[in-house]
Amino acid sequence: MDLKSLIRNIPDFPKPGIVFRDITTLLRDREGLRFAIDAMAQTCQAWEPEFIVGMESRGFMFGVPLAYQLGVGFIPVRKPGKLPADCHSVEYELEYGSDRLDMHKDALDPGHRVVVVDDLIATGGTAKATADLLERAGAHVAGFCFAVELRELGGREKLPSNVPIVSLVQY
Ligand code: 5GP
Repeated sequence: MDLKSLIRNIPDFPKPGIVFRDITTLLRDREGLRFAIDAMAQTCQAWEPEFIVGMESRGFMFGVPLAYQLGVGFIPVRKPGKLPADCHSVEYELEYGSDRLDMHKDALDPGHRVVVVDDLIATGGTAKATADLLERAGAHVAGFCFAVELRELGGREKLPSNVPIVSLVQY
C-alpha cells in the first residue's frame, strides 16, 4: 500500500518554511491505519519486546494499537507535569530552548525489553531523550519504529548504532 499518498503535506506549519507531514489523514483511512499498524507489528515482533514505549502525543496513536496487536503492554512517555507518580526525567535541547520528557519510575524493571514507537523522527531529539530515559530505567531498547522518517535531518545518527531503526515512509 502507498502509505505516503495518505500522508498530507501542510506547507508553512507550524512556521514558515516547514512542510508538516500530517499523519491524521493516514489514521482516518481504515485500510491505511490497519496496514500501518500491521507493518509495524511485523517488524517489531521480531524484536520480541515485552513493552511498547510511545511518546506524547502522536506516539500514543501508533503505540497503543501496536502494543495491543503484539499482546504486550504500553508505557507512555509524557511532557512535564502530566504523569502522577514518581518519574525519571530527561531534559533535551530544542531549536529554541529545551524541553523535558517524563516516564514513571515503576513502569519498567532493569532488563525489560522495549521497543520505542513514535509517529515521526525528524532531528531525533525526542527519540534520543526517550532512549536516555530508558537507559535511566535500566531497560533494554530492542528497536525503534516510526511511521515516518525525515531522512535529511539525520535523526537516526543520534540513536545508538547497535539498535535497529525502522520507518514505514521516508522523505
Ligand atoms: P524530533 O525530536 O525527531 O526532531 O521530532 C520528532 C517529534 O516531533 C515527534 O514526536 C513528532 O510527533 C513531531 N514532529 C516533528 N515534525 C513533524 C511532522 O512534520 N509531522 C508530524 N506528524 N510530527 C512531527
